[in-house]
Amino acid sequence: MTNIQVTINEASRLLREKQVSSIELTESYLERIRQVDSRVHALVTITDELAMEQARKADELIAVGDAGPLTGVPIVIKDNMCTRGIRTTCSSKMLQNFMPPYDAAVVEKVKAHNMVMVGKSNMDEFAMGSSTENSALFVTCNPWDLSRVPGGSSGGSAVAVAAGETVCALGSDTGGSIRQPSGFCSVVGMKPTYGRVSRYGLVAFASSLDQIGPLTQDVTDCALLLNVIAGADSRDSTSVPEPVPDYTRCLKADLKGLRLGVPREYFVEGMQAEVAEVMEAAIKELEELGAEVDREVSLPHTPYALAVYYILAPSEASANLARYDGVKYGFSYEADSMWEALEKTRENGFGPEVKRRIMLGTYALSAGYYDAWYLKAQKVRTLIIREFNEAFKKYDALITPTSPTVPFKIGEKTDDPFQMYLSDVCTLPINIGGVPAMSIPAGFTDGLPIGMQIIGKPFDEETILHVAYAYEQATEWHKRKVEV
Ligand code: GLN
Repeated sequence: MTNIQVTINEASRLLREKQVSSIELTESYLERIRQVDSRVHALVTITDELAMEQARKADELIAVGDAGPLTGVPIVIKDNMCTRGIRTTCSSKMLQNFMPPYDAAVVEKVKAHNMVMVGKSNMDEFAMGSSTENSALFVTCNPWDLSRVPGGSSGGSAVAVAAGETVCALGSDTGGSIRQPSGFCSVVGMKPTYGRVSRYGLVAFASSLDQIGPLTQDVTDCALLLNVIAGADSRDSTSVPEPVPDYTRCLKADLKGLRLGVPREYFVEGMQAEVAEVMEAAIKELEELGAEVDREVSLPHTPYALAVYYILAPSEASANLARYDGVKYGFSYEADSMWEALEKTRENGFGPEVKRRIMLGTYALSAGYYDAWYLKAQKVRTLIIREFNEAFKKYDALITPTSPTVPFKIGEKTDDPFQMYLSDVCTLPINIGGVPAMSIPAGFTDGLPIGMQIIGKPFDEETILHVAYAYEQATEWHKRKVEV
């Protein structure tokens, strides 16, 4: 069978015009998974039976003219979003055999739109990491160079999209986990505003930072998938009842009248020269499209975001992960005493990075250190939020690189957690600020992708999509597909 490789938008048209059925489309993607997943290792679970059942149902709806724009389109879900009756591992030994009894809100929505779930994707354990090497199951490889990392923690989702194993995917982003792997794999990825998408059923990492978002092949698809998942939900009290616009409406090809800022603090020391060159060319392109670009913007608290993140995120993680005690669900170590069982469950169930975060967070929250670490970090967080608010009085969006480097080699940073943490310097401040941001393909060097980040005002995903779309229409980067 020939491989069908399409965007959501194209799939939707082909399905509606009955040029292809959802069964054919789904079979083609499952076949592609069989061909390439043994090389890229993007998927923890392939849900082929469910996919075929959903495809059959989608075809029935299409036949009676009852299909929506995403009916029958294959999708992959990161393995930290609960799927009823389908293993949700978080790529951890702790949840290796965990069968959720319910669907996450986003999974419900994907199902309500009659999309077809083809698999669950690999990730850094509990979403802690930047390379997918912290998965307790296996390492995912970057399809542009199999000896390199795909980024993380949503590495499996980014690779599944880049390698054509799915039309689109969902990921989660606490400090960069959608955008950084999107940049590394040359796909489009958005972290919406904190509160834009319900996290009900997302396995919690750092609850004041976590957000779910789309990973797609182009900007139109990002808008289409955001239309599906956005919106308030009474089961997630942090989701905000802001109206959800039709995100495809803002996709306009020129940028006349838009004010864009380029904050200099994002061009960090140690940034690869090629990344700076690609950004320079991208900024020129944005100017040619009619935007007014100010390259002299300063957000002076940006350098503190990394330290703030690595106090707040582990603190919240240490509280969230306290629930894994071997009693209610997940891995359970059999022992004679309760304390021994608890200790051994956590000792054997969690990997080294997760333990490091739990220890860091427990320390930062402990009596006597709370004021010096956690409280101080919260205060600096407020300064960073204010700085974004000020900047957005002058600019409609901010432009930065997604990452300071191209994808690094597998194993290159595993012995040095700090080096690993640095690969998120450009993405972490956005979660601290709670604002939305997106990574889009902006170039290549030596065959390796480079992403551009577009940051927007809270609940103004539309302007981000507008800038991204105009840039995408004027460039060819998103059309370059990888051979696996
Ligand atoms: N890489 C960052 C971390 O290790 C961010 C991860 C994420 O966004 N989930 O925490």
